[in-house]
Amino acid sequence: MRKKWLPFASYNLWSLFNSPVGKEEWHCDMKRGFKKVRNKEPQVKALLEDTIPQKIGKLAQKGVYEFHQHTQLLKQSDGVERVAVILGLNREVDEVKERVVSILNNYYKYPILVGKNIYSLSRGDEEISEPLHIKQGNSIFRLYAPTDCIFTESDGTVHILDFKTGKSGQNDFDRRQAYVYLLAGRYIFPNQTVIASFYNLENFSVSEIIEANPEKLDFVQIELAEIAKKHEEEKKLYRHNPNDFAKIFPPNPGSTCKYCLFNYICQFSCEVSN
Ligand code: SF4
Repeated sequence: MRKKWLPFASYNLWSLFNSPVGKEEWHCDMKRGFKKVRNKEPQVKALLEDTIPQKIGKLAQKGVYEFHQHTQLLKQSDGVERVAVILGLNREVDEVKERVVSILNNYYKYPILVGKNIYSLSRGDEEISEPLHIKQGNSIFRLYAPTDCIFTESDGTVHILDFKTGKSGQNDFDRRQAYVYLLAGRYIFPNQTVIASFYNLENFSVSEIIEANPEKLDFVQIELAEIAKKHEEEKKLYRHNPNDFAKIFPPNPGSTCKYCLFNYICQFSCEVSN
């Protein structure tokens, strides 16, 4: 029997609807249109192939995973080189190779998961995880909240840890991502306290421990249900009126176009040379 199609939400979708506080000028609805609605068009799809930062993030995660699959490598003097071989870093461009080797060295020196009671550790290259089905009012939406690592603290608290890479500092952690994890945690571990935090494998910055009370999680759930519904509506609108792309997803051209993945194909980009 065919499964019933349900709207979905995720942190990624949330971040495309609203920028983090203080970064509002980065917001552009048209980016969401390209990423989430036109993502199957060959030109757009090609742009969505792994970018260098995404590739570094995935390989860093896979490196941590491999260290914990073969924990003896954390004690061997050639442990980093061995993991680099497993990751196939010699096939990567120099920037990726150099930064991932540096991340592996960091982790080799400070393997923060050693001694933790690991419940799950992502390999970094999995297919999309199974969503949770969440009922909000009279409707249901799918929530995608793939986690990098979950471990249990000695008192039984479930800790969801998200690994970051990049030069950005502590203030760049977006708490909304933690709230999405905590909401998922409420359903997966209903009888345990759940906390979340971020750790940057590249510059060692650590976030505070993030928690949320039931009222906060109710609010997050309502927000995500709303986003899932709005996104479904805008997809329908675009399907029926593809010429109205710019009306459905208004562009917000500005200095951020320079860093936008779609600036070569976006007719509103400040970066396009006519
Ligand atoms: S190039 Fe500029 S206007 Fe176009 S989608 Fe990107 S940020 Fe928006």
